[in-house]
This record gives sequence, structure tokens and C-alpha cells, in this order.
Amino acid sequence: MAKVKVEARGIELSYGSTRVLRDITLTVEPGEFFALLGPSGSGKSTLLRLIAGFAQHQAGQLLIGGNDVTGIAPWKRNVGMVFQNYALWPHMTVARNVAFGLEERKLPRDVVRQRTDAALELVGLTGYESRRPNQLSGGQQQRVALARTLAIEPQLLLLDEPLSNLDAKLRVQMRQELLRLHRRLSITTIFVTHDQEEAMTICDRIAVMDQGVIQQIGTPIELFDHPVNRFVAQFVGSLNLFEGNLTAGRFASPTLGECELPPSVERAARSDVHLAFRPHVVRLNEIPDSDGLRLEGQIAGSEFMGEFVRYEIRVHQAIVIADQSHARGADRIADGTPVRLSVPAGELRVMEA
Ligand code: ADP
Repeated sequence: MAKVKVEARGIELSYGSTRVLRDITLTVEPGEFFALLGPSGSGKSTLLRLIAGFAQHQAGQLLIGGNDVTGIAPWKRNVGMVFQNYALWPHMTVARNVAFGLEERKLPRDVVRQRTDAALELVGLTGYESRRPNQLSGGQQQRVALARTLAIEPQLLLLDEPLSNLDAKLRVQMRQELLRLHRRLSITTIFVTHDQEEAMTICDRIAVMDQGVIQQIGTPIELFDHPVNRFVAQFVGSLNLFEGNLTAGRFASPTLGECELPPSVERAARSDVHLAFRPHVVRLNEIPDSDGLRLEGQIAGSEFMGEFVRYEIRVHQAIVIADQSHARGADRIADGTPVRLSVPAGELRVMEA
């Protein structure tokens, strides 16, 4: 099946006076696994429903495979959508659930049978044909929903928070299965989630949304290393963030106190900025790079996370989070201990407030 490209150009959608999508412009490349990531209410599902044909925009263009699909009914778009709640028919068997969409399309009986079997095989549910949804685990129900959608051989797969009803362990397992399935089928896929880890671990590229606006589009590494604003920096990964003013290379903050910024950091005098760095780049009690930020503080608390220890360190009036990898047998630094902190210059960012 040919892989399709999806393009949104300047899409606007309002419900009454509420602007839910604002100037949405993005391109999902053929065969790409693309995420819409953002907090609840940011407009992700609305954008997905718009692509599926269940919502209509008031301005802009939506193209699937180069064709403007405005006004084209959902069932004519050849798009498959998997919902958060699976939406399986409880009174039908697994096989009937999967076959239903094919029968609706009035396909010959042997084709229905063959595609049903193939879809169930694809999601690892061969042998479960005659069970009913209530005889399946959550993960298996999710797979039936996926099989049902794949059976219609859509040119575009839309997944709306498909893993959020599963428990944490199963979620991790299922997201790997989704990734494998995508690798095998290479079908253009758009995945909605509010979980940054989910988006970062399986998607090729991510559009980060907030309040109906796309804040940034990039690969997981681009978003993590080069967030364009504070929202993206905080949403994608954890962040230490301190407000203050910059004067002649010095950063003066009501919380963090005063510190000298390394010459390689952009240091032009500016007020109301934020100094930002991620917890895992903070070094404790190490001889700092000649070119780095140096601070002094006191351990205020710590959490043992297994692979690393997350320290809370009081520096002046601020709390700096520092994640330190844990080696077997190493002790935690006790609360109250004075520590020297350093952050390599390349990991520091000055951001607009
Ligand atoms: P998300 O998927 O990111 O959680 P949604 O797309 O579901 O966000 O919703 C975005 C905003 O649009 C929310 O403020 C929501 O209340 C509003 N909204 C969604 N659907 C409708 C609707 N049918 N009528 C009115 N407001 C809606």
C-alpha cells in the first residue's frame, strides 16, 4: 500500500468562541510515526478527529496523500482510528469484531475471512477468534481494537491515547509492540498522547501542543536538547529553572542568588530571563570544568530511584534538582551535607521568561 503524507496548513477550529486549534501547520511524512504530545485540553484529540473526518475546521487546509479532504466523510478517507476505550462490541466474538468493518464494506466472505485472520495474526491473537471482549485482558482488548482497524487496510493510522487504560508495565510492553508493528507495516501513523516518555520512546517526530498551538515540531532528541521555549523544555523532560536578571555576565536571581555565567553562554544584559539546566547534567563535588557554572549548596533531601539518586539541594533560596547515577554499594549523601555543584557551560540555557 502506498504510504501517504498528511499536511495541515493554517488550520483554525473553534467551538463557539473557544479557539481550540490555532494556525496548525504540520507535515507528517509518508510512513512516519508521528506524535501529538501535550497536556489535557491542548487540542490533540480535536486535531486527530479532524484528520479522521469527525470534526471540521473553519479555515486552512487539510491534505491526505496530496488531496484536500475537506468535506469528505470519515469512511471515505481510508483512515483507521483506534480509540482510548477500544469501543469493541461486547456481544460479538473477537473474530466478528474484527470482521465487522469488512462486512460493512461488503467485501466477499473469503476476503473478510482472510483479512480477519491476517490482522489477528499481526497482533498476536491467533487462537482467540471465538472469545468475547470480556474474556480478554486489557492488553488483548487493545490488540483486538488494533486488529479491527488494521483489517480495513487504512492508508493512515490514527491512535488516540491507545495505551492509557493499561497498567504501567503493560503500557511499556504494548508501546514496543506498536513500534514493531509500525516497523513491519510502515503505515503513516499519528499517535496522540499526554505522556512524554511514550512519545519520546516510540515516535520519529513529535509536535508539542499547548492551548491549541503547536509549540515545536522535532525529533525526540531535538526537542530535549533544543527546546524553543520554556513550555517545551519543561514538558519534555525535567528541568531546573530559575528566574532572574542578567547584567555583565552575572545572573542575579531572587531564588538562586548571584552567580557568574561562563563566557560561552549568551550573556547580554537582559531582565526577566530564566536560567535553565536539566537535573542529570549537575555534577556534585567534582572538580568543575574551567568553563562552567559553579554553585554551593546543602543537601535538603534525596530520593533513591534505583539507577540514580535524585537530590534536592538548597542553594540560597532555591532548590536545585541533581540526578546522580548510582553505583552498587554507594551511599547516599546525607541531608544537611554541604556540596559543590557544577554545570558544564554547554548544558546551560538562558530563556525568555
Ligand atoms: P486534548 O486531546 O489535548 O486533551 P481536546 O482536543 O480534547 O484536547 O480539547 C481541546 C479543547 O477543546 C478543550 O478545551 C475542550 O474542552 C474543547 N472541546 C473539545 N471538543 C469540544 C466540543 N465538541 N465542544 C466544545 N468544546 C470542545
